[in-house]
Amino acid sequence: MTVNPEMKKVKDDLLEDKSLPLYKYRTEENNFPVIGEGSHTASILFVGEAPGKNEAKTGRPFVGRAGKILDELLMGAGIPREDVYITNIVKDRPPENRDPTEEEIKSYGPYLDRQLDIIKPKVIAPLGRFSMKYILDKFNCLENELPISELHGRVIDADAPYGAIKIVPLYHPAVAIYTQSKKPELVKDFAVLKSLI
Ligand code: URA
Repeated sequence: MTVNPEMKKVKDDLLEDKSLPLYKYRTEENNFPVIGEGSHTASILFVGEAPGKNEAKTGRPFVGRAGKILDELLMGAGIPREDVYITNIVKDRPPENRDPTEEEIKSYGPYLDRQLDIIKPKVIAPLGRFSMKYILDKFNCLENELPISELHGRVIDADAPYGAIKIVPLYHPAVAIYTQSKKPELVKDFAVLKSLI
């Protein structure tokens, strides 16, 4: 894959940014930041929550249990993983895999914003309620107070600086690990994504 100089700059800045609240944990063994991966011309950009243990170990997003489910959902919908871009709102692993804090989301958010400006996706698919809230707030969507149980799979029109976009909130794939009954809903929602590209 060719190196995109703008994306490389995002990576370099993130690696050096000592002000980030989870920066200090990078000294731990096998705890690397996860910038994101995939096509820099993707029409769909997925935004997860934060890296887990396997992601921090490899520096790649969604390679653990939730990643396997994401891969299955993508394959089922006929969307090749290499055609999309996958990242997280928080780029370092929160200790004990706890939920990201508001402060963390605020601190890492500008890096996601820069990635969106570089890739200019037609469709943004937040995975889970934290990235959903961030994206809906960012694009001033009136739906931003509604719960994910109501919004998942819905196509929300929004305006990005580079043109009209669609936001499709999705349940986080990890919900299917704990609540099997959510899997068919995820399958349905991924079919919605496919219909948009
Ligand atoms: N969960 C996430 O939200 N992101 C990952 O990269 C892996 C698991």
